[in-house]
Amino acid sequence: PDGITLTGVEKRYGSHPALDVPHLGVPAGSFTVVVGPSGCGKSTGLRIIAGLETADRGRVLLGGVDVTDAPPGERGVALVFQDFALYPHMTVERNIDFNLRLAARHDRRSGLSRAEISTRVAEVCAMLGLTDLRRRLPRQLSGGERQRVGLARAIVRRPAVLLLDEPLSSLDALLRQRARAELVRLHRELGNTVVLVTHDQLEALSMGTNLVVMNGGRVAQTGPPEQVYHRP
Ligand code: ADP
Ligand code: ADP
Repeated sequence: PDGITLTGVEKRYGSHPALDVPHLGVPAGSFTVVVGPSGCGKSTGLRIIAGLETADRGRVLLGGVDVTDAPPGERGVALVFQDFALYPHMTVERNIDFNLRLAARHDRRSGLSRAEISTRVAEVCAMLGLTDLRRRLPRQLSGGERQRVGLARAIVRRPAVLLLDEPLSSLDALLRQRARAELVRLHRELGNTVVLVTHDQLEALSMGTNLVVMNGGRVAQTGPPEQVYHRP
């Protein structure tokens, strides 16, 4: 699995400094939770790692490889957004396997076969409780179900690095608790590097093997949860 290193990363919007990170290391195979108040630069950091945003200066390394100038599709990362952006005219199943089919068509040698794709999709649907919803369209799903489809679509590619931006925001309390457990289990199964952004301290403490606490565009603290927060 790939670790992530940011060095000297700075990002401004106009004259407003959104991110200023001299050094940050995300250990390979960790479940890292980035926590901090709204507007502290969490999403900006995630988007820079994914390649959807360009930093004004600094480097991004994935698994020791400098990807600062690499396009998103060549970074081996998957990003799940708050709004999950499903294709409205495609069924749940097509939404999940679309990128795999596309990759298979583009590159017949390294792409997966039809059989491999359908096995993977079945696995991921079972894992996220989507098996009975496979033929539905996004508009026929609840917000929480859509969020699970967005997650399934990212996971099915087995990305070495999985980036999650407030992925549980639209779930009610009970579903959120279940989804947290599902994500932790998934991380154990895949053994990949997960970075999850949240403003919820409980979420950070209950899920992360590694925490990054941000404030005002800077990393205030980093380390295992038991070191970062002092418990009574
Ligand atoms: P968080 O994810 O922690 O809520 P963001 O990374 O979204 O924080 O934002 C960090 C700061 O950068 C905030 O002050 C926000 O208003 C600003 N910002 C983010 N995106 C843009 C943008 N596209 N244009 C201008 N300012 C932005
Ligand atoms: P691939 O071709 O392997 O599917 P992409 O280049 O499409 O990879 O994108 C990698 C990740 O970034 C995907 O999760 C995709 O949804 C997201 N992404 C790519 N381009 C954009 C964009 N312009 N806006 C938002 N998300 C994007």
